Amino acid sequence: MTQDVYPVPQELCDCTLCTDEQYIEQYARSIHDPDGYWGEIAGTFEWFKQPTKIKNTSFHKDDFGIKWFEDGELNITVNCLDRHLKQGRGNKIAYIFEPDSPRYPSGSVTFRELHDRTCQLANALRQLGIQKGDRVAIYMPMIVDAAVSMLACARIGAIHTVIFGGFSAQSIADRVQDAQVKLIITADEGHRGGKHVPLKANVDQALKLPGTNSVETVLVVRNTHAAVNMQMPRDRWFDEVTRNQPVECEPERMNAEDPLFILYTSGSTGKPKGVLHTTGGYMVYAAHTHRMVFDLRDDDVFWCTADIGWITGHSYIVYGPLCNAATTVLFEGIPTYPDVRRTWQIIDRHRVTILYTAPTAIRSLMREGDENVKLSERTSIRLLGSVGEPINPEAWRWYYEVAGDSRSPIVDTWWQTETGGIMISPLPGATALKPGSATRPFFGIKPELVDAEGKTLSGATEGNLVITDSWPGQMRTIYGDPQRFFDTYFSTYPGTYFTGDGARRDEDDYWWITGRVDDVINVSGHRIGTAEVESALVAHPHVAEAAVVGFPHELKGQGLYAYVTLNAEVAESDDLRTELVKLVRTTIGPIATLDVIHWAPGLPKTRSGKIMRRILRKIAEGELGALGDTSTLADPSVVDHLVSTRSAD
Ligand code: ATP
Ligand code: MG
Repeated sequence: MTQDVYPVPQELCDCTLCTDEQYIEQYARSIHDPDGYWGEIAGTFEWFKQPTKIKNTSFHKDDFGIKWFEDGELNITVNCLDRHLKQGRGNKIAYIFEPDSPRYPSGSVTFRELHDRTCQLANALRQLGIQKGDRVAIYMPMIVDAAVSMLACARIGAIHTVIFGGFSAQSIADRVQDAQVKLIITADEGHRGGKHVPLKANVDQALKLPGTNSVETVLVVRNTHAAVNMQMPRDRWFDEVTRNQPVECEPERMNAEDPLFILYTSGSTGKPKGVLHTTGGYMVYAAHTHRMVFDLRDDDVFWCTADIGWITGHSYIVYGPLCNAATTVLFEGIPTYPDVRRTWQIIDRHRVTILYTAPTAIRSLMREGDENVKLSERTSIRLLGSVGEPINPEAWRWYYEVAGDSRSPIVDTWWQTETGGIMISPLPGATALKPGSATRPFFGIKPELVDAEGKTLSGATEGNLVITDSWPGQMRTIYGDPQRFFDTYFSTYPGTYFTGDGARRDEDDYWWITGRVDDVINVSGHRIGTAEVESALVAHPHVAEAAVVGFPHELKGQGLYAYVTLNAEVAESDDLRTELVKLVRTTIGPIATLDVIHWAPGLPKTRSGKIMRRILRKIAEGELGALGDTSTLADPSVVDHLVSTRSAD
């Protein structure tokens, strides 16, 4: 365990939105007086009708319910767009668009233009018969029209469900069927890493699958201008239906608790579920976390590298930044195309001040060596962020020292699709950092640790992470399945929201996420978190990435099975194997003795870049015929390789 502490940089203390003192005081208030705290924050937004009732929530079976701002009426797009135009910010840049290939020019869209395009599409959608409450799927590349599509739905009260552009026809069909989607917005093709993604063709294929006849219309954006098959009258060109629409569109009056969107989770643990978020609470929470966690300034250029198909894209590329009138980079491509310098070039090209990315991306950039980073200036950067998985201290330090030149704080933000926004994170001007720790809870968030029986644990200890009270950004249900919602999140430890994650609280009350509870390995009665073992492995200079799972072991109950990816140009050897076993034993203790090391040129990941341990567990257990749902895998060949090399280890 590391004891390194990185204090708040002196120069931040004078210009931050929140100092340590203010954090302590406001956090206490947010917990003791949630109505007062959140009522005040909500008051900074524009409502048709200001809410008078703030919090009305219970996690208990008898009176279960989650409502925030329940008598408030609003439209989120008024807060994302119209409000800024009224305040004279119409000419501020909302999106800087960076295309897949750097050979093409980048572009930009002002808040005024974004408003006009949103209204035009919203009018077109209404004309096509879409009404408040109808479901619209968005299957798009990372282009400005993707954001426009989300906003246009919200403008007229249609519920959007964004489907990541890397998903297959079957995944589209599953989601279309579950949500009974009426209209799909897509593009002819997308560009990604120099390849063409046949989006329209995938939609065509999906709509041939059973259960998809709810779809009446498919709107197609001309993006690459590739020839696609248009099936009339179902398929319509986006530009043709929007072109002659007025640039004003009356926003739908939404109750705060009316649904805003459904988003299917990435599925690292099983069948995707339709997470439903509502309008008022989500807006307030996404915007407030974005402003405070990134300590936002008016001249920031914010770049979140997530895809809009994930919650991170929803909250921190679209709704949060737009509500805050921030300038955001929207990047169509991938960080390694045309080569590994791309991330750093984009930062220099657009003078990015805040970079928000994932540990998987950080590790892959780190693997390529420091030279590629040092070719860039990165002088504009003032803050770095991480999300998606625990960040290994080794990767944290590299991110801090090499990417950030030891100048910029890192906000390691823990949250989930279900939580709508960031839950545990440093605030740059308030929180001293410890590499690998998500540090302290955000305003209004009450985390607790419980043991397997649900008993609350106090002091510095480790356990299951629960949240004991509601916050505005919390999901409201699983679409169409309220019982599954209750059972999944509120029945394990009654009266609390169970996150599914494990965590440790240290002597300074800092929080360390140890990974999913399902991933905790029990070796001879000792609970070992996968994150810790993986961090020990990644600390070795030759190791690029590692994933550790448990497997049945005659003597120990469970043994430790490690998949290890080596850095480019390092050879696998028995000596290295011995060295790694030793390293983990000395870092964590003799109880953490690796039983198997399986060399893995690649690890199975979800499309959002998370390691799929469920599959790795099956391979370790030798259950090669029962790998389960692999439809959300980014690259299925990785699994084939591991299966075929298993016995050799
Ligand atoms: P599914 O729920 O469908 O299995 P998922 O949990 O990967 O998929 P997300 O909601 O995108 O889908 O991810 C949330 C999870 O990611 C958290 O529960 C946690 O395990 C992990 N996570 C996110 N951010 C962090 C972080 N900063 N530190 C540690 N873990 C994190
Ligand atoms: Mg999850």
